[in-house]
Amino acid sequence: MDTPLNIQKLLDKRMAITTALTLIDWDEQTLAPEGGMELTSNAIKILNEELYSCMVNDEIRQFINENKTDETAIIRKIRKDYKDNVGIPKDEFSGFRTLTSKANRIWAKAKEEDNFDLYKETLTQIIEYVRKFARYRQKEEKTLYDVLLNDYEPGFDVARLDVFFDMIKSEIVPVVKKHRNDKSVNSFNYKKYDIEKQKQFCEYLATYLGFDFKRGVMAESAHPFTTNLHNKDVRITNHYYECDLEDAIFSCIHEVGHGLYELNIPDNLTQTIVGTGATMGMHESQSRFYENIIGRSKAFWKPLYGKLQDTFADNLKDVELEQFIIGINEVKPGLIRTQADELTYPIHIMIRYEVEKMAINDGADVDELKKAWDQMYEEYTGIRPERDSESILQDVHWSGGDFGYFPSYALGNAFGAQIFNTMKKDLKVDELLESGKISVINDYLKEKIHKYGATLESNEILLNVTGEEFNPKYYIDYLKEKFM
Ligand code: ZN
Repeated sequence: MDTPLNIQKLLDKRMAITTALTLIDWDEQTLAPEGGMELTSNAIKILNEELYSCMVNDEIRQFINENKTDETAIIRKIRKDYKDNVGIPKDEFSGFRTLTSKANRIWAKAKEEDNFDLYKETLTQIIEYVRKFARYRQKEEKTLYDVLLNDYEPGFDVARLDVFFDMIKSEIVPVVKKHRNDKSVNSFNYKKYDIEKQKQFCEYLATYLGFDFKRGVMAESAHPFTTNLHNKDVRITNHYYECDLEDAIFSCIHEVGHGLYELNIPDNLTQTIVGTGATMGMHESQSRFYENIIGRSKAFWKPLYGKLQDTFADNLKDVELEQFIIGINEVKPGLIRTQADELTYPIHIMIRYEVEKMAINDGADVDELKKAWDQMYEEYTGIRPERDSESILQDVHWSGGDFGYFPSYALGNAFGAQIFNTMKKDLKVDELLESGKISVINDYLKEKIHKYGATLESNEILLNVTGEEFNPKYYIDYLKEKFM
């Protein structure tokens, strides 16, 4: 059916407000001066109130009541957004947004000064809001945390995730332990690499991967991320360190993976409420697929490595391709999620998952969360955090109120491995990579995943592409085969 005019007007207004908020957020993370946030947050507050009014009002309520059985993706989304927000009083909604827009600065300062005490009160308030909102919204979900998980990855509740993370615990933790005392094999990575040259190489790499700079840009920010206004304006960021080559290269590949997904959203979906990636997990499956599954393979680097060697001749001329590949796949259990190797990565997520469950379902206080965090790191990686900044302060997510988001990262890896298992049957992946034909792989993902935008959920996509719903076995097998 066609959307009635009054509802379409609300959807258009919602799109305009989202565009403004996206641009403010992009600006805040890339160029805005540090002192500006306090005042800019007033505008953010008003825009968020308007956004809320577009999702929750009498016209929408009436529309939902008149279309109880209509299951188009857009109506499904209108209904979900209405239900998710209707129970939350408007002043609490904007109060929460104001808190989180300030919390980011407070968190950043606490992390910089390595002092959890500076952030405890803010984090406590955020958790209180998040739990309160989850309670308002809880319907058939068994636990409060399930309500939040449902926001990011519908169909993946605590019961299902417990099974997944138990497999990580029993099958992957022992493999990580085996690598604890490995000798370092990537000393080349920590030599001095000219930052301008890194930028040039990353631009080349992004283009090589199919990122279209006529419809996209690449800027710099403290933490690399991807955002977009529509399929003609997709923005990625990267960051550069003089003595760490891998960081920029693999962040670039990762964000390009996200970017390709958004660039491939078809014209008839873009600028609608389903004109974006299916879910956080499915998005992450694409970025991680490019970053790890393809991006760390020998076949991928075969046609590229010569260019990298030429760009940094002083550092890499004596490093053979073989040695480079071993280096970029080094397993080194550590404390920092964003620097984790491919094998250790899901353990970082498993720990956050357990801590979030404690915070949201058990109402544990922030000191207990910190204690649990440190204990689990010691148990599963063999290293105990000594400093707050490398412990519970390390991630930005909670300062934005994002609880339930972390599991999407691990699920993304697992979705990627399951999709790769099927892709290998359909395409000669290594041959394509060796001959630089990335576009064939890009087209495959576009056809099977990207073109559906958010009209399908993850399990529907996995079923269509691989013939079965989510099955963590492929991910476990992939990791064991690669790292045992
Ligand atoms: Zn990502």
